[in-house]
Amino acid sequence: MIPKQQLKGLTPYKPGKPIEEVKKELGLKEVVKLASNENPYGSSQAVKEAIQKELTQLHIYPDGYATSLRTAVGKHLKVNEDQLVFGNGSDEVVQMICRTYLEKGTNTVMATPTFPQYRHNAVIENAEIREVPLQDGKHQLDEMLAAIDENTRIIWVCSPNNPSGEHVPENELISFLDNVPKHVLIVVDEAYKEYVTAKDFPDTLARLNNYKNLVVLRTFSKAYGIAALRVGFGVANAEVVAAIEPSREPFNTSRVAQAAAIAALGDQEFIDMCRLENEKGRSLYYKFCEQYNLDVYPSQGNFVLIDFGIPADDVFNYLLKNGYIVRSGSALGFPTSVRITVGSQEQNKEIIKFLIQLLVERGMVKS
Ligand SMILES: *Cc1c(COP(=O)(O)O)cnc(C)c1O
Repeated sequence: MIPKQQLKGLTPYKPGKPIEEVKKELGLKEVVKLASNENPYGSSQAVKEAIQKELTQLHIYPDGYATSLRTAVGKHLKVNEDQLVFGNGSDEVVQMICRTYLEKGTNTVMATPTFPQYRHNAVIENAEIREVPLQDGKHQLDEMLAAIDENTRIIWVCSPNNPSGEHVPENELISFLDNVPKHVLIVVDEAYKEYVTAKDFPDTLARLNNYKNLVVLRTFSKAYGIAALRVGFGVANAEVVAAIEPSREPFNTSRVAQAAAIAALGDQEFIDMCRLENEKGRSLYYKFCEQYNLDVYPSQGNFVLIDFGIPADDVFNYLLKNGYIVRSGSALGFPTSVRITVGSQEQNKEIIKFLIQLLVERGMVKS
């Protein structure tokens, strides 16, 4: 058998260690996972009720067009219903976009390190990948523009960027949008938008009127807290959505997921609470970093990437044996940093306590 050549170098996504396995291996009673930027507060109570209602309907196929969810999201974001494309997570929207625009002989431009699914799906479509290194955790938009040629089909901007947490400010984004040639699709991935508090964060959706070649990605997996159910979406002009839609599986979002997403969207109080608590948590980490002289990027997401100046896996393992699973930077392109999802205040305080212990053990603080 002969699989596609380009899949040879690819490995399947490696999830973090499952909680149950870590408990058994290390003999721990409680283990907390703060590795995948999941919401420490779970999801709105309304979500559970909405799911319960769907349980009598499981034998019926979902509405492939996600009509009710489409109406709800359209209203919430003040966009037309034909401007939305839903995916089994925004991961699937990334996949659909790549299927639609990329093939052999084309190329795509992105930052590095950034969200790995852009690259992964582009490789599967046999496109050339042009990666522009971040500088101080930030997208180098001018260099990215310079990498564009007539064969470029997609340019990716992840803001806030996973894993650095840095965002692209409004003035920079607008001058970038002005300079991307019309034949290139611009994807702005705003998976963490609900957590953003920066005043200079752009209203990217409002720009759709001016730029016909723009797609904004959003998800229900992060602040909305329903990662398990897999719902994400793209917002673009109707022509772009119409181009992407044929690459979508007929029933790609489930009945339960659609109902849950509508309920989640309806509870903005929950989102406001999460944004507020997350901001407090980020501040706690910044204070710790300042106090102990550690580099951290200003994050607009629900995670912080902290540079400890020692191998990332050492920090990862230290927290692991104390019951916290975080993300080692060794696999993310930051070999001396760890990415920690902001947890509940109690969890943040406990992690910081363990981090201080580690720094003391390593002789990295004068105590
Ligand atoms: C988590 C994440 C996503 C994926 O979200 P799903 O909707 O769960 O597929 C997309 N982009 C970025 C930058 C993310 O961090």
